[in-house]
Amino acid sequence: MFCRCEVAFGGEPNTRVCPVCLGLPGALPVPNKKAIEFVLRTALALNCKIAMRSVFHRKNYFYPDLPKGFQVSQYGETNPLGYHGFLDVPNAEGGIKRIGIRRIHLEEDTGKLMHLPSGGSGVDYNRAGVPLMEVVTDFPPDINTPDEAREYMVQLRQILLYLGVCDGKMEEGSMRCEPNISIRLEGAEELGTKTELKNLNSFRSVQLGIQFETRRQIAVLESGGKVAQETRGWNDATETSFAMRLKESENDYRYFEDPDLIPMEFTEEYIESLRATLPELPLAKYRRYMADYGMTTKEAGVLTGDKHWAGFFEQGVALGADPKLFSNWMNSELAKYLNETGQVIHADLADDHHALSKITPNHLLGLIVLIQDGTISGKTAKDIFREMLVSGDQASGILAKSNLTQISDDEQIKAWCKEVIQNNPDPVAKYKSGVINVIGFLVGQVMKQSQGRANAQLVQELMKAELENA
Ligand SMILES: [Zn+2]
Repeated sequence: MFCRCEVAFGGEPNTRVCPVCLGLPGALPVPNKKAIEFVLRTALALNCKIAMRSVFHRKNYFYPDLPKGFQVSQYGETNPLGYHGFLDVPNAEGGIKRIGIRRIHLEEDTGKLMHLPSGGSGVDYNRAGVPLMEVVTDFPPDINTPDEAREYMVQLRQILLYLGVCDGKMEEGSMRCEPNISIRLEGAEELGTKTELKNLNSFRSVQLGIQFETRRQIAVLESGGKVAQETRGWNDATETSFAMRLKESENDYRYFEDPDLIPMEFTEEYIESLRATLPELPLAKYRRYMADYGMTTKEAGVLTGDKHWAGFFEQGVALGADPKLFSNWMNSELAKYLNETGQVIHADLADDHHALSKITPNHLLGLIVLIQDGTISGKTAKDIFREMLVSGDQASGILAKSNLTQISDDEQIKAWCKEVIQNNPDPVAKYKSGVINVIGFLVGQVMKQSQGRANAQLVQELMKAELENA
């Protein structure tokens, strides 16, 4: 946040450190402009007011993960870069739950303590000084259940990924959730003492952790005890929480303005220029897909859940694809294939374990056009699709090289129908006696003969006619 050390995950301990982030005497901090911009853009996306003048404070406490003995943070109600905003979370029923955002501030991350196999402890400062944006929800809380907490996190993560300000990897700690949990007796006004939960590294553990903590607090009260104000850790393996440390009150931190950092001051023009960079956000997209393309909440939710997925869909539509057909193919065959092979559809998502897929919106559109104009059957389309994903060739090219075109030749189909009728006297007799749905079986036989290439509708018609003559 205040030096030039690289932001990355893992690596040899203490290899991404310098005199500034280690807090060596005489080193002076310089704020990272990009990080400030990222927080401001997030604050705008979360409907916050912007502090046109905002200062950094020192939060003082003594712990080995903090090389300087203080953490640069932002204190106060209206001093943080963003404050008094909200996030709307859609639910499956098509409604909205509004979660108040109290503030969004910018600070620096701390190092990591590691317990060594030899018995001692080590400290890794690679993470110390990495820009850290903290989004704090309102108090009294709007989030009332573990499910709502999870949904809020899902929606917040989507927004951060759309904005491109965070990679959202909870398992690597680049997005973390530290829920504060309290309970109250039914009908009571006051919330009980809260506890804070740490080490939640997936959406699932957020949900499980809050569930566990709620039950634990109820059990404490019911056995006549008192809930202690403390920070608790989550153990993923045992799915339980454990006491870490008693929570200090704010006064203990002796916040004061950092004398090495000048106040940040912004102009209206600058803030408006940032607002202009905001993309269409997931919720707006979700609503638009339902309104413009008649999608269900589920379809729109799946498409807009990831910005690259939505981008792929929009490129297809821009090229002239039928939105419904295109999204059906994306969410069934394409999703299945990517999942099986671990491939991704955008270069930003590719890494050591995920290769970039050869398929583009143009490929999928080319395939859909062949289905729509009756050149190929649905079954053939699936075969071509697989081939397309492997070779990267266009559907029309694959089709030209193979003999997969749909057969709509009346004479050929009639001949197959006759053959099937001859070889299946029992079903034919049943049909004659009025069990007309056996025609499905007979049509199926013709499709099998044609290796799926016969035009199914034509087979249906001709089979009916041949049965009348039989
Ligand atoms: Zn550094």
